[in-house]
Amino acid sequence: MGNLSPMMQQYLRIKESHQDHLLFFRLGDFYEMFFDDAITASKELGLTLTGRDCGLAERAPMCGVPHHSCEGYIAKLIRKGFKVAICEHMEDPASAKGVVSREVVRVITPGTLMENNLLQEDTNNFLCCIYLVPDETAGAGSSGLVFADISTGEINLLDLTAADDNAIMSELSRYMPREVIFNSAFLSRKAVAKYMREKLSCTADLVDDEAFGNDEAAATVLAHFGKDSLDDLGLAAMPRCVRALGALLHYLKDTQKNGIERLITLNIQEESKFMALDQNARQNLELLQTLRAKEKRGSLLWVLDKTRTPMGKRLIKTWLSQPLVNPMEIDKRLNAVEELYRDEILCADVADSLGGVFDMERLMTRIVYGNATPREYKTLEQGIGRLPDIKGNLDAVKSLHLTAIRSDIDPLEDIRELLVKSIQDEPPVSLKDGGVIAAGYNAELDELRALVSGARDYIARMESEQREQTGIKSLKIAYNKVFGYYIEVTRSNLGMVPETYIRKQTLANCERYIIQELKELEEKLLSAHDKATALEHRLFEEVRVSVARNLGRIQRTATAIARLDVYLSFARVSLDNRYVRPVVGTGDAIQITEGRHPVVEQLLGSLPFVPNETLLDTSDNQIAIITGPNMAGKSTYMRQVAVIVLMAQVGCFVPAASANIGVVDGIYTRIGASDDMTTGQSTFMVEMVEVADILKNATRNSLLILDEIGRGTSTYDGMSIARAVIEYIADKNKLGAKTLFATHYHELTEMEEDMAAVKNYNVAVKKRGDDITFLYKIIRGGADDSYGIEVSKLAGIPQWIVKRAHEVLQDLEDGRPVREQKRKGRKAGAREDFEDIQISFTQTSEVEDMLKDIDLNTYTPIEALTMLYKLKEKAVR
Ligand code: ATP
Repeated sequence: MGNLSPMMQQYLRIKESHQDHLLFFRLGDFYEMFFDDAITASKELGLTLTGRDCGLAERAPMCGVPHHSCEGYIAKLIRKGFKVAICEHMEDPASAKGVVSREVVRVITPGTLMENNLLQEDTNNFLCCIYLVPDETAGAGSSGLVFADISTGEINLLDLTAADDNAIMSELSRYMPREVIFNSAFLSRKAVAKYMREKLSCTADLVDDEAFGNDEAAATVLAHFGKDSLDDLGLAAMPRCVRALGALLHYLKDTQKNGIERLITLNIQEESKFMALDQNARQNLELLQTLRAKEKRGSLLWVLDKTRTPMGKRLIKTWLSQPLVNPMEIDKRLNAVEELYRDEILCADVADSLGGVFDMERLMTRIVYGNATPREYKTLEQGIGRLPDIKGNLDAVKSLHLTAIRSDIDPLEDIRELLVKSIQDEPPVSLKDGGVIAAGYNAELDELRALVSGARDYIARMESEQREQTGIKSLKIAYNKVFGYYIEVTRSNLGMVPETYIRKQTLANCERYIIQELKELEEKLLSAHDKATALEHRLFEEVRVSVARNLGRIQRTATAIARLDVYLSFARVSLDNRYVRPVVGTGDAIQITEGRHPVVEQLLGSLPFVPNETLLDTSDNQIAIITGPNMAGKSTYMRQVAVIVLMAQVGCFVPAASANIGVVDGIYTRIGASDDMTTGQSTFMVEMVEVADILKNATRNSLLILDEIGRGTSTYDGMSIARAVIEYIADKNKLGAKTLFATHYHELTEMEEDMAAVKNYNVAVKKRGDDITFLYKIIRGGADDSYGIEVSKLAGIPQWIVKRAHEVLQDLEDGRPVREQKRKGRKAGAREDFEDIQISFTQTSEVEDMLKDIDLNTYTPIEALTMLYKLKEKAVR
């Protein structure tokens, strides 16, 4: 250390406590990084690596970014999983003696973002904290989860009594946190850690167990909310959540110097309040994004989201992720939607008034944190200006939830008045150069400003007086930064300069002077300017504090607007797409007439969507076994039933002619077959693990969507598993859940005869010769055929193979050994046998097809050699 320059010593001292962070060290107008940080950042950000003398023989590696455009760089680093510590000047470098004092004012991590540019407008940015009760402690295995979004001020608490891996992963997939912190007991949950890393791509860090201590955590929580007892917060019976919340607040205090007072909305989430939806169901039903492309287009959100405000956009995602289970609560939402749905004028008026409402929640975060620009205060003022209109539109509403929204919307007139009076109409971007506070707001400021702006006249007067007194016509008074005000006299007039003039500078053709009077004026002006700037800062801060003090009112208004926006979106979509209000109750039946899939019907565009009926209950219609060809619409139908139930329980109207929905406590899906490369499990293994989870977690009141269980193994094994699963589900003492079960095992349709709970359905197709047409209609009874060969023909499989497949099928169905191919006097592979192939397979030969099919990664050398022989044989024939 000894040889290092004082500034470098300061740098290293600060870096010492920020080992895990990239340290952005403020130096003038730049944030500089040194040593290893510089090497890493230059590589990650593509910056030039330079060096700086640091007192040692070798220069310190250095790179930097301008402080005014640092957000883009920080965003990039955060996306790459780094954490960035921002170290600022703590005093004005111009007046500092010795090394400027500096401190880390904030650590930016993925879960603690507040800046607009770093956040996605329509998505919450959650930091999650997990407290897992350690083994050999009372309540071992249970857990307290906290999800906090510092950019919107909300905290969600969830107490999991049985926190197995699935339960935790399900909650993580509900909130999709960007960062997770946890106690040491959680280290044992390897599967969840893997899930966080690979599926959620979030940062995950262990936090010191001390922060999770019972008393310590409780004290942190009470101090944050300014309460005396946990009872006041409704947390007395939630010790696990208190530990997690305490640790989370502690972490935020450590990383953020201020702004955490923004976290004011405490939501206690009861496990039983929401439908169980694990991440498979969320993905398979494509709620927020599509399964494969991971895009919003093609998802349920894409159809339902017509929200107009950023707050509404975030809330609709939350609602779709957590459908309700209490019919009364669902009905209240449906009443609100219906009131808007029935009054198109109200709908249009509310839509108009919501248009362009800015992100009040996140703007408030920046105001509380202290980094909102003067222009953003103006945006707040304009946004508040719309509130009376929004509230006014709701004057006559009757439904409980719309009435509550109306009373929660506070017109905030006092705040608007303060902003109108205090901030200029078109303020500069930054407070630095002044000119932010409006004229007339503060008398002292007005006076100081008058003095500064009057200076020009004063100087003009002094200039003409001096010209008169000296007789020098070309004399002028000017200003520069180095000398301040001076009098300039050209060389030819030097003889007329009075003795009272004090020479300051000599130039080639003139001399510059000052006089006592001018000096006094300058001092007065400069001090007025400085005073005005300081006063503006103080006044601006006062405005900030006044606005921030009203955070609760503004937040309540913002969340009311978010709810209104989502109800409006549901109502508009329901009107536009002919949805109907579902009847939601506690009964156990799901009865849908002319149900449609909300997304597929949109994607079909002008093509008609064929509506279908559904009847599921817990007695005679508990399990629907659906058979039918591939591509006939089985998956669409099953998903449609699940999505309609989900929409109803979210409180939205549904795409059907009518729907009676007995609420379900969970939707479980097993759809599609994808190898999970990341876990190294085979298709079949993944399928079985998922089925096992469903059978373990589902209840009699759940809805199960099972698509082709058992197809990943041999026919008999698969069929046996499928049958055993159905028997288990059908048994009311074991599971008894309502189930849609699609299968290609036609043998399973025999179960209808043995079990009252099972009913067979199939998807109608029209067959003419070798061709089939899909009718997409679900009808009673098992399919008489799987039409696999016909569908393969539709897919472009060559006629030759289709013909041969029919021959083979015939033999199999007749119970005789498969015969040789029928050849009419010519060898197999003769030209006309391939004619069809060449038509449909754009000019590829059998050899080429074989080559394409070879998976080089799985071939052993012997297999490769054998294949080579085969290829050669085909080629020379
Ligand atoms: P596979 O068994 O191969 O997965 P499937 O029987 O599940 O096939 P789907 O994927 O549900 O078939 O449907 C195939 C396509 O048929 C859909 O993408 C859609 O274009 C169309 N389709 C499905 N249902 C309907 C319907 N009710 N009305 C109109 N078109 C439909």
